[in-house]
Amino acid sequence: ATAAIPKTQKVILINETGSYDVLKYQDYPVPSITDSEFLVKNRYSGINFIESYFRKGIYPSEKPSILGREGSGIVVAKGKSVKNFELGDKVAYASGAAFAQYTKVDDNGKVVKLPKDADDETLKLYAAGLLQALTALTFIDEAYNVKEGDFILNYAAAGGVGLILDQLLSKRGAHTIAVVSTEEKLELAKKHGAEYGIVSTKEDIVAKVKEITNNEGVDAAFDSVGKDTFETTIASLKRKGTFVSYGNASGPVSPFSLKKLTGNIKILRPSLFFYISTDEEWQHYSKEFVSLLNSGEIKINIGHVFPLSEYPKATQLLEERKTTGKLVLEVPQ
Ligand code: NDP
Repeated sequence: ATAAIPKTQKVILINETGSYDVLKYQDYPVPSITDSEFLVKNRYSGINFIESYFRKGIYPSEKPSILGREGSGIVVAKGKSVKNFELGDKVAYASGAAFAQYTKVDDNGKVVKLPKDADDETLKLYAAGLLQALTALTFIDEAYNVKEGDFILNYAAAGGVGLILDQLLSKRGAHTIAVVSTEEKLELAKKHGAEYGIVSTKEDIVAKVKEITNNEGVDAAFDSVGKDTFETTIASLKRKGTFVSYGNASGPVSPFSLKKLTGNIKILRPSLFFYISTDEEWQHYSKEFVSLLNSGEIKINIGHVFPLSEYPKATQLLEERKTTGKLVLEVPQ
């Protein structure tokens, strides 16, 4: 059974890698679904930095490629064997091709079912929080299990992932040292629980870390900047500290010699995806997310909402470090 679903829709796609001008807002066929898939009419999609890696070709993708990895909306069609969802269900999901009016999702995919009466604000919040909160939640448990009293270096601490990390680290009783590029961003990070701050455009990160940690260094660093901060992060770690390298905002980390890992430091390069691969893992972390969001224990700070058509402008601001919190796209209905 299907409601009136058009044949074509508006999407954001790329046919080639490049700068902002390769991003096209255009008509494209609405996807057809298999027996085990359902179709979501999107209300909101969340913007993530990873889209820029696909656009630039830092990560490969088939072309043409509709961007977007998370969204929320209403189920408007379903395949014969879909068991978990009904027409009219409201959902938030992590799945590809979400910068579109319609997205197909697998019955056993990464989906959170929302209450039937969920309003637009709720849909917006879930599209905004899903991937970044799961990133923060899985990383503080599994990339480095953060303990009370730990000193943690948190880069891009006023960004989407960063503001959620600030909150979760403080909840756990760790001392967060936020690294940000401006005073305004620092103020925001502190409002979300960061205890110390380093304004990277004005201060020396390693010197300040040493000062704050009584010369010892941090127990762990969550570094999403990549290339530009690799050496700085190594030098900021305590003996036996953990380097969680999880992004390439300044470009991918260059190859390095294992001799760099002096002081028995550990390094890992985690992806959220591999912490939520099994259904058990997905259930565990997605339920934790829903519960923290509903109880108000974490707040999703939405910096700005753009219409879907303005994704190119939105990502330019994101990539030029001019944004804070999460950026969301509102999908035309
Ligand atoms: P953010 O909102 O954090 O935006 C990126 C921020 O990075 C900027 O605001 C800026 O903050 C900082 N930054 C530092 N250096 C640069 C640079 N040279 N160019 C651009 N930005 C820079 O984005 P997201 O929350 O979407 O993502 C944060 C990071 O986490 C990204 O690197 C992303 O790839 C990574 N990530 C990784 C995941 C994984 O599974 N491994 C999952 C999710 C996100 P400032 O101005 O304060 O320096």
